[in-house]
Amino acid sequence: MLARLRDEEFDLVVIGGGITGCGVALDAAARGLRTALVERDDLAAGTSSKSSKLIHGGLRYLQQGDVRLVYEALRERQRVFRNAPHLVTVLPFMIPVLTKDGLLSRKIARAFGSALWMYDFTGGIRIGRVHRRVRAKKALECMPTMPDDRLAAAYLYYDAQADDARLCLELARTAAERGATVATRCSSSGVVRRDDGAIEGLRVTTSEGESFVVRCRAVVAATGVWADAVDIRPAKGVHVTVPWDKVRNRIAVVIPVPKDRRSLFVVPWGPRPDGTFTHTYVGTTDTDFRGPLDDPQCTSDDIEYVLRALRANVTTEIGRDDITGVWAGLRPLVQSTDTSKSGARTADLSRRHLVHLSPDGVVTVTGGKLTTYREMAEDAVDEVMNRLGRRSRCRTKRLRLSGAGRRPGNADPHLWSRHGTRHTMIDDLVRRDPSLGRPLVDGLPYLRAEAVHAVTHEMALGLDDVLSRRTRALLFDRAGTRRAARSVAELIAPYLGWDVSRVDTEVAAFHEICDHEEAAALVTEAELHPTPASRTTETGT
Ligand SMILES: Cc1cc2nc3c(=O)[nH]c(=O)nc-3n(C[C@H](O)[C@H](O)[C@H](O)COP(=O)(O)OP(=O)(O)OC[C@H]3O[C@@H](n4cnc5c(N)ncnc54)[C@H](O)[C@@H]3O)c2cc1C
Repeated sequence: MLARLRDEEFDLVVIGGGITGCGVALDAAARGLRTALVERDDLAAGTSSKSSKLIHGGLRYLQQGDVRLVYEALRERQRVFRNAPHLVTVLPFMIPVLTKDGLLSRKIARAFGSALWMYDFTGGIRIGRVHRRVRAKKALECMPTMPDDRLAAAYLYYDAQADDARLCLELARTAAERGATVATRCSSSGVVRRDDGAIEGLRVTTSEGESFVVRCRAVVAATGVWADAVDIRPAKGVHVTVPWDKVRNRIAVVIPVPKDRRSLFVVPWGPRPDGTFTHTYVGTTDTDFRGPLDDPQCTSDDIEYVLRALRANVTTEIGRDDITGVWAGLRPLVQSTDTSKSGARTADLSRRHLVHLSPDGVVTVTGGKLTTYREMAEDAVDEVMNRLGRRSRCRTKRLRLSGAGRRPGNADPHLWSRHGTRHTMIDDLVRRDPSLGRPLVDGLPYLRAEAVHAVTHEMALGLDDVLSRRTRALLFDRAGTRRAARSVAELIAPYLGWDVSRVDTEVAAFHEICDHEEAAALVTEAELHPTPASRTTETGT
């Protein structure tokens, strides 16, 4: 890929390998543009591996009156279902109706009901099921740990869940299959122009320190919170993972946070064949972030916030010691130009996306949501086509992603949901070497073969790529993953040409990530990042 970047000439170079950049690369390649994508770290290393993993319209935004956003997101949800059926699963949600001091607020119950009718009409119904109200007994079956004395009834509705990092990967792969050049560990450091001001190329620097100009005619910056042409207000959101046995929720549940207007999602994760799960994650928070963009962390105040909500809604004892994993990400919210909103809570800022054309000709696309990536990409590439004076309509509405297909009856559900039609490649690896069929990390469903596949076929270049994004082991179980780190490094070393000292370095770097997470969980955000970071130009565009 690097050789192609150096040697070929492109119509478009995309900066950023998150969901937006991968979506743009696919859209552009599908329209026939000679396309390259450069990502300075790993695919999905930014916000796109740290979301709530919901492909949804967002009931909350409907309550904020943003009907158009919800309509568009629900339309896109349907497209992701069709185009990547292996990666997306229907996820039922429950909104419990709780009594307060023994009283049921009929007003609140009616408000939930009306909001869900609106959600269905706005497009929720496309999933094939409408919401319904259920009695307390049925609600308790969905989450037996809810306080039965306060549970009056519940509403059930339907959205979807997808592994965000794998969705990015499949987009990048599909783009590459359509001719795009995709390079990771390759950072953009500035646009190079001709004397007349037209774009001549993009200067990039690899992690090995090599710097060269990629020749191109147009540039899209899809750098999320690192966008420098647009005023971004980063909002931190955290998630906390606990063992499923502590919550025993069979579906996702929306719980209110005491003394706050927000609610949290309690989402089952890691399905087992018997219908139970290995873990449940809870999130997300939404707070202004003034620290360094490269270091969002789940801090002690975040953990307290999540635990406070859990304790108020779950009868089992759940404490800090029960937490097995955490993740924190930054929403790239576009700062409102509406002065009445400039001091608004980040939770109230719009999730709409923005395509911005700088005077220097660089197209920036940011904001938006995981769910709406395709539409964001379409808008950005439309702008590029205008600039290039080319015409070709968007082709991604019905473009199936790599790995999509009909699931054969004998496909292992875990492998299918992560690899789709390529699950046979993992099966083949295990057939040739049965030791690769053993778990990668004890207690988690990933196989050692999946780590090998990650470095041979999924562009994973480091230990963290394998343990945090190709598999999500770190997010499930930090302690177990840390224990497995050395054996995983030794497993992938021959494929990546690592010697013993490189294995040591990779293991040490991964341990450092774990240590940093653990240390951050002991201090508040204000203690971790006492001085606001200066937001300087980081994309170099
Ligand atoms: C806590 C949280 C929960 C969320 N939950 C949901 C959800 O459930 N559903 C939903 O639809 N949305 C959700 N979102 C929103 C969604 O995750 C984001 O909108 C989306 O992931 C942003 O993707 P992006 O590609 O724009 O940015 P990113 O994923 O951050 O990608 C930007 C990339 O640019 C790279 N980059 C930066 N500078 C350079 C450079 N100079 N050279 C090369 N590369 C560079 C970075 O390394 C990064 O990989 C959530 C967001 C957060 C924070």
